[in-house]
Amino acid sequence: MKPDTRLIHAGRNKQYTGNVVNPPVVRASTIVFETFAELNHASINRANRVPFYGRRGTDTHFALQQAMCELEGGAGCALYPCGAAAISGALLAFLKTGDHLLMVDSAYEPSRSLSDKLLAGLGIETTYYDPQIGAGIANLIKPNTKVIFLESPGSLTFEVQDIPAICAVAKQHNIVTILDNTWASPILCKPFDLGVDVSVQSATKYIVGHSDVMLGTATANEQHWPQLREHSYLLGYCTSADDAYTALRGLRTLGVRLRQHEHSALTVANWLAQRPEVKTVLHPALPSCPGHALFKRDFNGSNGLFSFVLKQANQQQVEAFIEGMQHFKMGFSWGGYESLITASMDVQQLRTATTWPYTGPLIRLHIGLENVDDLISDLAAAFSRL
Ligand SMILES: *Cc1c(COP(=O)(O)O)cnc(C)c1O
Repeated sequence: MKPDTRLIHAGRNKQYTGNVVNPPVVRASTIVFETFAELNHASINRANRVPFYGRRGTDTHFALQQAMCELEGGAGCALYPCGAAAISGALLAFLKTGDHLLMVDSAYEPSRSLSDKLLAGLGIETTYYDPQIGAGIANLIKPNTKVIFLESPGSLTFEVQDIPAICAVAKQHNIVTILDNTWASPILCKPFDLGVDVSVQSATKYIVGHSDVMLGTATANEQHWPQLREHSYLLGYCTSADDAYTALRGLRTLGVRLRQHEHSALTVANWLAQRPEVKTVLHPALPSCPGHALFKRDFNGSNGLFSFVLKQANQQQVEAFIEGMQHFKMGFSWGGYESLITASMDVQQLRTATTWPYTGPLIRLHIGLENVDDLISDLAAAFSRL
């Protein structure tokens, strides 16, 4: 089956849906049993999608978990109340006091803060590494290195990592690899084919796709699924059936939405690349983006999220650029149907292992599903104000 077809079928197991198209929203804390035999059956199979207690999930959650495995390719999927929880759940499943973590320098800022504030306090040391390091990661490995955390393309700056090269080194040293795969959604890259052990998604973004639910997932290969499942369960992570339902509904239109986001974003990115005020465009599908060749090798396509760097502009100019926009609003998150814009005046302060080569501000855009000519007019007016 091609990805579009898989998106339609994923998780729609008759066991979960009955005779309706979508799995019903099954809300539960308590699940009741009449006999010891039933109770024992549920208890023995509680990790295998048999209802046992609400925190372990209901058929709605099981349908989403199955869908994510069918799409990303893992052996099991844990659900979390948001993407940040999926990241903490995955890291805490495989790290303990005295361990060493390697984290990419271009990671989502809250992933860095988790390492610097919470993991450091638990006695887990983090070393940040250059997103372009590839097989050179071998030089940073210590005897106590237990996890390599990747995110590709990087948040804000979009460097594409050599995932297979890093995973090959990790395997030689028995190190677990965890990839924040949010940018790719479950369909633009095949994390397990590239050698990753655990793939994390902020489902808040393209999976839900309508800016109205917070949700996270972590999908693991056969070897790492039991520990991820058990440790996330011990930490108490669980989600509402309504949110799982909304994510399943979002999945059905993911392919068609992404194609429109991709098409419009490429149109805007190529338009920006011609502007005299623009220093560079950081879009993985453009040759100007570090790691573009790896993107062509490892990804099936792109989405609506990318950045560009202005040649020179002070705070006041950036305010003039952004304030007064009609379609691009400032706001966190992305992956919904609407266009968004954020500005970073100083990218260097977000990294410690690498030197950021540009002096001008970085502008990140999420290209939504509005008509692309309207979006370009909005940006053209912003350049006039700049
Ligand atoms: C948004 C985001 C997260 C965090 O997800 P939440 O659902 O907001 O907690 C993690 N990683 C990346 C790359 C993100 O963009």
